Amino acid sequence: MSKTKQKIAICWFRRDLRLADNPALCAAHEAKLPVLPLYIDDQGFDDQPKAGGASNVWLHHALSALDGSMDGRLALFKGSAQSVFETLADQFDIAAVHWNRMYEPAAIARDKALKSWLTERDIEVRSHNASLLFEPWTIEKKDGGPYKVFTPFYKKGCLNADPPRKPIAAPADLNLCSVQLENAVKLDDLKLLPDRDWGAKIAKGWDISEAGARAMWDTFVDEGLFNYKQGRDFPAEPYVSRLSPYLHFGQISPHQLWAALDHYDQDRNVEHYRSELGWREFSAYLLYHFPSLPQKNFQPQFEGFRWTPNETFLKRWQRGQTGVPIVDAGMRELWRTGYMHNRVRMIVASYLTKNLRQDWRDGMAWFEDCLFDADLASNGASWQWVAGTGADAAPYFRVFNPALQGQKFDAEGDYIRAHVPELRDVPTRYLFAPWEAPDDERKKYGLDGSKYPEPMVNLKESRKAALAAYEKHKDER
Ligand code: FAD
Repeated sequence: MSKTKQKIAICWFRRDLRLADNPALCAAHEAKLPVLPLYIDDQGFDDQPKAGGASNVWLHHALSALDGSMDGRLALFKGSAQSVFETLADQFDIAAVHWNRMYEPAAIARDKALKSWLTERDIEVRSHNASLLFEPWTIEKKDGGPYKVFTPFYKKGCLNADPPRKPIAAPADLNLCSVQLENAVKLDDLKLLPDRDWGAKIAKGWDISEAGARAMWDTFVDEGLFNYKQGRDFPAEPYVSRLSPYLHFGQISPHQLWAALDHYDQDRNVEHYRSELGWREFSAYLLYHFPSLPQKNFQPQFEGFRWTPNETFLKRWQRGQTGVPIVDAGMRELWRTGYMHNRVRMIVASYLTKNLRQDWRDGMAWFEDCLFDADLASNGASWQWVAGTGADAAPYFRVFNPALQGQKFDAEGDYIRAHVPELRDVPTRYLFAPWEAPDDERKKYGLDGSKYPEPMVNLKESRKAALAAYEKHKDER
């Protein structure tokens, strides 16, 4: 006689690595059955994309923290999601599977297929909302089409829609399943950490946990939010929240932040912070409605635009060796910390796509590999925005001047000096455009290439060349 299988509910964790405000976990808990908390690393299986190096470092620590918050009961698997559910269905009587929705094209396809597979086996599947304030299909223009411009999307669409749901508390007394699982693996078996010690170095200084996210938010509310609107442009200043990786991996939810902002009055820059969360929504919305966003120019007139691929340019940009201090500071911040300040992301992306005329997809791929917050939607939308090819983009002819940007947003040079040590002793007057310093001063400070590289291209000329290429492309179309 076959043994009766244990009846359970499954909470499949994905981009929601938290206990609080987790609708899937709450719903699984409400079934009053033992809950099996599950994570499947299916990178490279069922057409799921492989994440970049930094993202996997973050994921490793986030899973470790989540497991810790559930007394080591988080079940880990590697492989195709369907094969994992097949094994589980052999072992258990699965009453229901709960997950929080993801919105990338590959995840949508996987979830759809899996949902039919489970439903055919009489297993109830329920998906929940946990990572977006507004479901992308609920925000539409009067004509029923999707918005392509941020301001009407946010003001007319989001702010006039039903307000985001209120956050929900973590379930008390979770009844977690404690059975030996077939094919389950240990966290180290997922091999998310790179062999090089780079992974350990970038993770330093971050508390990669749900509690870490909350602590970061508390500090930001007390210190950064008062001056967020102006201060968020100054990369050496502590006025941004640095919550993007936590939001990406769901260690904190936008609903928690949106609702927390209700408690503060306008002496803090509440509405401005909300609108930045709005940009996150807009990126996810665009990807949902235009799934080729990370691959194809959003504005079709850019198809056939002649980028000028140059391995040396790309390598020097990646390594922070361009000879343009603010660009190098940003690229080195990225490599050393897994993060880059938004203002500097715009500067380095403009420099790559306009002054160096490298394809935005090459820049996006490097960010994808190095950013802790690498996010298909935000990365794709932002690169296209800067390159001028995107929705609601800065026009192609708006080329950031990185020397002026440095002067304006890092006037004392603190950010540059923090990330480019060979420029530490250089007087501020030479710091933003060292190539303009007199020859003897360039020699003295090693700006002649002996300590710090000379620039790869002349800013004025490369800007002119980019604009000419754009005009030529327009004429040829
Ligand atoms: P805060 O200023 O504290 O903002 C709060 C939150 O709002 C952020 O955590 C983020 O979730 C959201 N947000 C703010 N600005 C934007 C924006 N422009 N677009 C979308 N969401 C925003 N953001 C990512 O999360 N992942 C990426 O892969 C990514 N790639 C980018 C690539 C380029 C070329 C550029 C110019 C921007 C990119 N951004 C990306 C957007 C933005 O730079 C980061 O979200 C922001 O710097 C994160 O820092 P923070 O949490 O301190 O931001």
